[in-house]
Amino acid sequence: MDYNVNKEGFYGEFGGAYIPEILYSNVENLRNNYLRIISEDGFKAEFEVLMRDYVGRPSPLYFAGRLSQKYGTRIYLKREDLNHTGAHKINNTVGQILLAQRMGKTRIIAETGAGQHGLATATVCALRGMKCIVYMGETDIARQQLNVQKMKMLGAEVRSVSSGNKTLKDATNEAIRDWCCNPSDTHYIIGSTVGPHPYPDIVTRFQSIISEEIKSQLADKEGRDYPDYLIACVGGGSNAAGTFYHYLNDTRVKLIGIEAAGLGVDTDKTAATIHLGKKGIIHGSRTFVMQDEDGQITEPYSVSAGLDYPGIGPVHANLFTTQRAEYLAVTDSEALSAAFELTRLEGIIPALESSHALAVFGQKKFEPEDVLVLTLSGRGDKDMDTFLKLITKFN
Ligand SMILES: *Cc1c(COP(=O)(O)O)cnc(C)c1O
Repeated sequence: MDYNVNKEGFYGEFGGAYIPEILYSNVENLRNNYLRIISEDGFKAEFEVLMRDYVGRPSPLYFAGRLSQKYGTRIYLKREDLNHTGAHKINNTVGQILLAQRMGKTRIIAETGAGQHGLATATVCALRGMKCIVYMGETDIARQQLNVQKMKMLGAEVRSVSSGNKTLKDATNEAIRDWCCNPSDTHYIIGSTVGPHPYPDIVTRFQSIISEEIKSQLADKEGRDYPDYLIACVGGGSNAAGTFYHYLNDTRVKLIGIEAAGLGVDTDKTAATIHLGKKGIIHGSRTFVMQDEDGQITEPYSVSAGLDYPGIGPVHANLFTTQRAEYLAVTDSEALSAAFELTRLEGIIPALESSHALAVFGQKKFEPEDVLVLTLSGRGDKDMDTFLKLITKFN
């Protein structure tokens, strides 16, 4: 079976490009050109230099000794938290800014929830001298002030969105509206493996550097280039897609994605799209969507703004449906405990999103000889307010 996108832009029955007429030429232009551009030697060389000297890659593969001891198995952390700007998002924005410039674009737009993708986009726009507009929900602006201030310092314009729940879904709608009005000079940098084809494939390819590095790093450390398990959190699904990419057809490797259950999958305060979503269309893609009986998209909830999305990348909808990957749901409180546990055992403060992946050890038992690689998608600096409210509970 091929788990990658087919020529028509589908992963099994998921994906595609369900877009308004006015966006057609933009998306078509991208579709006709992205593979050619990103496979050019000049593109690859420039991407490689920036990954190494600007982002700081390869990110280390760290053997977490005390965490491994506690859970009686062998746990490696893929340290995307050590990247410039603090998460995996920068891998994709560097790739897309190079793509945008080669397509002759001069203006960049983006949506952001927690602000990590907005920050990564504002960063590469400063690097390349491009005009940058970031759409962000009013609610998220209020709870992610540090990232908003960083984006402004980098020269981006942050546009506040006050429709709907005033969060990521609404910011995405607004960015799409902007793109409709400015098709010729503007490139829309989508931050996850979502949106119309070819975006999920573009983002997956730029993030696939994660599994490319895991292969050679594991070969060095374990004498074999594959683990028994790969584990990553799933919001839209980009850090997980990048972690899985080079192992999709290697069935020796079990794949585990972790989504956010919020207060629980049996409550209405949740973002567990794989567990609760039904097939539908969101932001140009056919996938699982959290919706009510009338097909209206429902408001997701998670303590972690980066996982607070009512859809899921089509690649994951297909990996779930074909049972190639397993998806678990982790609650706010399980994730918060896991964040404190990693901090106290390894001296690493993880992002709230990544903490969901770390909570896998509370749900699933592994064998002593198993080799696990868990992608630590980001660092916890942006989440300190949330952590500090709980500090007495964990002392
Ligand atoms: C944005 C973000 C996520 C979720 O996005 P994916 O596309 O699912 O990877 C996870 N972790 C961190 C640190 C993020 O910033």
